[in-house]
Amino acid sequence: MQAKKLNVKDKYRLLTRDLDWEFSYEDRKEAFPYEEFEGIKITDWDKWEDPFRLTMDAYWKYQAEKEKKLYAIYDAFAQNNGHLNVSDARYVNALKVFLTAVSPAEFASSNGFAWAGRHYGGAGARVAAQMQSIDELRHYQTQIHAMSHYNKYFDGFEEFPHMHDRVWYMSVVKSFFDDCRSSGPFEYIVAVSFAFEYVLTNLLFVPFMSGAAYNGDMATVTFGFSAQSDEARHMTLGLEIIKFLLEQHEDNVPIVQEWIDKWLWRGYRILAVVAMMMDYMLPQKFMSWKEAWELYFEDAGGALFKDLERYGIKMPDFTETIKNEKDHISHQAWWVFYSHGHAAAFHTWTPTAEELDWLSEKYPDTFDQYYRPRLEAAAELEAKGERFYTAGLPQLCQTCQIPMFFTNVDEGKPTEIVYRESTYNDERFHFCSNECKHIFDREPEKYVHAWLPVHQIFQGNCGGGGLDEVMEYYRMGLGEMNLDYKGSPDEKRWKKWKGVA
Ligand code: FE
Ligand code: ZN
Repeated sequence: MQAKKLNVKDKYRLLTRDLDWEFSYEDRKEAFPYEEFEGIKITDWDKWEDPFRLTMDAYWKYQAEKEKKLYAIYDAFAQNNGHLNVSDARYVNALKVFLTAVSPAEFASSNGFAWAGRHYGGAGARVAAQMQSIDELRHYQTQIHAMSHYNKYFDGFEEFPHMHDRVWYMSVVKSFFDDCRSSGPFEYIVAVSFAFEYVLTNLLFVPFMSGAAYNGDMATVTFGFSAQSDEARHMTLGLEIIKFLLEQHEDNVPIVQEWIDKWLWRGYRILAVVAMMMDYMLPQKFMSWKEAWELYFEDAGGALFKDLERYGIKMPDFTETIKNEKDHISHQAWWVFYSHGHAAAFHTWTPTAEELDWLSEKYPDTFDQYYRPRLEAAAELEAKGERFYTAGLPQLCQTCQIPMFFTNVDEGKPTEIVYRESTYNDERFHFCSNECKHIFDREPEKYVHAWLPVHQIFQGNCGGGGLDEVMEYYRMGLGEMNLDYKGSPDEKRWKKWKGVA
């Protein structure tokens, strides 16, 4: 027998689309039960352009190569005590945020792509989603492995899977993925591949990876690079899915527009934590949140939406609100974590004098007026041994689950907190913004039963009514992974290693 050598194109066709089959005795609609329920109309799956012509065997070969290199660097990092080379132990707190909030999102995303992929009638989309599902699982694993070294030397990493389903701020990311994984397969992929990966991913990954590079963390830089080529594929898929849906049928346009509006807003809200990380948590700063937003959204996003205009898609109106908020959110978010620093799995602190000046320089219109005085007052209290922690619990937004700290910048009232509300079945619900209210009003049934951490604490469902009981429920304990960086076990160990008295 003679094996015929196939060219790449034929091989690719045979290994992807030609693996599909016609349904002779089963109803195709029953095999893909979610394909129509969102109102999306697919007229011809053959119009799907595979964004990356990669067969499964080639995929595994590439990925295995990348894994080998990545783990060699992890080994070297561990053997050389790489953690001693970071700029300052405060930096490690950014990694704790990453591991507890971002990595579980990778896992949720893997799960979501496996499910969504199963439900596309077109083989090309199925294969693309399947590959992304495996990528996301790989990201989850490589991130945990990178962090496992830090876990040996710093507090705050060890309980992240337990915390994911319980701790107040982690519910923000969890609810994002619960929301998109419980929608249909097309909304899911617009949410994750387009809104998150294509439009917003640079605002998540670049800050963490550049932050790592600026702060001497080679392990994180390396997994960032290793994920980069996957990320490039994911972004291509995000753009392809949008164009495909818009070209399939004109009735899809308003549905897709609603999804873009909803998921860009939800994604943007999560980025408040990245904003805070960039402006407050990196001892060596490389760019302010405001600059990153201007570069990666206002410039790049502007061009993208120009391109989508020919399909009848427009830039969401709320980008004006975001523009107004960019001078504020990092400072507001840091204050929430600082004042609730006893209930977070990482340390908080007041900025140094040089850091305050950097913030003044980066935020000339807002920092000195609204935020510096509060941080200076907090530092004064600290100096007197009265470090401020609030005893209150914040009200949460029913949609994004973020504490209601955003202020009314649209109406020029930056010291007034935005409260919006809706009534549904005689019950009142609260929102941090017009956009979160709008998302709720479109699908109230989806959000009325949201597991809001603060409500759950008040109902006694988180271990009990006292702080101690809640902390036990979180597996935090008081005084190790939380409270101020100053005086923490992390700081003590760091000073000892560095020979600082
Ligand atoms: Fe990922
Ligand atoms: Zn909200």
